[in-house]
Amino acid sequence: MTPEEFREAGHRLVDWVADLRAGIAEHPVQAQTAPGEVRAAMPTAPPGPTSVDELIEQLDRVVVPGITHFQHPRFFGWFPANASLPAVLGDLVSTGIGALGISWQSAPALTEVEEAACDWMRQLVGLSPEWRGTIQDTASSAVLVALMVARERATGLGQYGGGLQAAPEPLCVYTSSEAHSSVQKAALLAGYGFDNLRLIDVHPGTRDIDVDALRAAVEGDVAAGRRPAAVVANVGSTGVTAFDPVAEVVEVGREHGMWVHVDAAMAGTAMLLPECRHLWEGVEGADSVSWNPHKWMGAAVDCSLFYVRDPEALQQVMATSPSYLASSHDGEVTQYRDWGIPLGRRFRSLKLWFVLALDGVEAVQERVRRDLANAAWLAEQVDAAPGWERVAPTRLQTVCVRHDPGGLDADALDRHTLAWVVEVNGSGAAFLTPAQIDGRWMVRVSIGAEPTTRDDVAAAWEAMQAAARSAAAHP
Ligand code: PLP
Repeated sequence: MTPEEFREAGHRLVDWVADLRAGIAEHPVQAQTAPGEVRAAMPTAPPGPTSVDELIEQLDRVVVPGITHFQHPRFFGWFPANASLPAVLGDLVSTGIGALGISWQSAPALTEVEEAACDWMRQLVGLSPEWRGTIQDTASSAVLVALMVARERATGLGQYGGGLQAAPEPLCVYTSSEAHSSVQKAALLAGYGFDNLRLIDVHPGTRDIDVDALRAAVEGDVAAGRRPAAVVANVGSTGVTAFDPVAEVVEVGREHGMWVHVDAAMAGTAMLLPECRHLWEGVEGADSVSWNPHKWMGAAVDCSLFYVRDPEALQQVMATSPSYLASSHDGEVTQYRDWGIPLGRRFRSLKLWFVLALDGVEAVQERVRRDLANAAWLAEQVDAAPGWERVAPTRLQTVCVRHDPGGLDADALDRHTLAWVVEVNGSGAAFLTPAQIDGRWMVRVSIGAEPTTRDDVAAAWEAMQAAARSAAAHP
């Protein structure tokens, strides 16, 4: 493709994206495709030369119906993954430039714009200048890196000797039972072993970690000759968006020389609002923090910020310096390859830059405040509606609900819950996520898609009530 052909096809495809977004509300939120349907619609042989018209026809016919639309105003699933249009442009420019960050020298602007963007974001969420940031693909990678660095700190860089296999005592990792599955995955991948992962109980009402139980577990491990290495505090957990008391978790961590990581994947965006920052009070005492601007803020997957107070601790564990990557500037510049796992890095900071420059942080703050108000409004409706209850406090933008028509035992209530949520999702009118709490089903209404207005929340609430009535009438 020549640059001129690219220009023409690019204009068509930018128009296509703009049309898709402008008309997104006309699509069902949930993908309507059955397993295998998309695959069956794809040619079995690799495509030959195809016109842009044909490609667009295939996107419309095969791809778009096969997407559960996170950019839809009635998307209330999991957590948002907003891809605001400035971030789409940032991604286009990133790929258009085609830089590969393998060293500062390979693309000085890639490194230094990332440094600047991480620092802007640090300021915007009120973290002190003590923190240095980088962009990882996901919060899963960030917590894996944190737990690997914690492991090496606890073993005095044991990886350069016998590794964990030579550690004199087992190393333990602590988090709450509400932690995202990526924390457990990271602990296993970092070699701690399931037997040394402690999923600490939470307070039943709020689902925040029980710090007394954390302290007791840590002390029990010490007494048994094990070594506490890391604790992960959850700031906006995935299930019910619970908030561990970071200051208290930090205190336990400090007493025992643990690495403290704060997972604020979703809630980090709320910290753009000064009035929300009490929710991570104590964060300054942690060793690392991750949050995903690709969730609520709009920076488009993949863009997960990872801040550390001591970048050297990362570099001691992650640094590689083969001769072909050496340059005369080594020592003066940041080599982000030493801050994480991949060597080759994308120019992700353009997405943050473009969101801040083209939408502006005030617009994002206004949207986040709108979503918080919409969640509070929905919480009030649920509280006032007979048969409905909230199963957890609404501390951010996730409203966790259950409908009980009465007279059902626990299993029948589970079936009722799943019946009405499947009905709402299947209708395409809104998309919600069923999830378990204490082994019983409830439904999460996670507000925060970029185009979601109060009317959309009200329409979802109507659809929920209608589906619950219908499920109760036809058990
Ligand atoms: N932590 C929390 C609290 C999350 O909600 C999620 C995903 O939703 C993650 C971590 C993992 O995020 P990622 O998909 O960026 O790995």
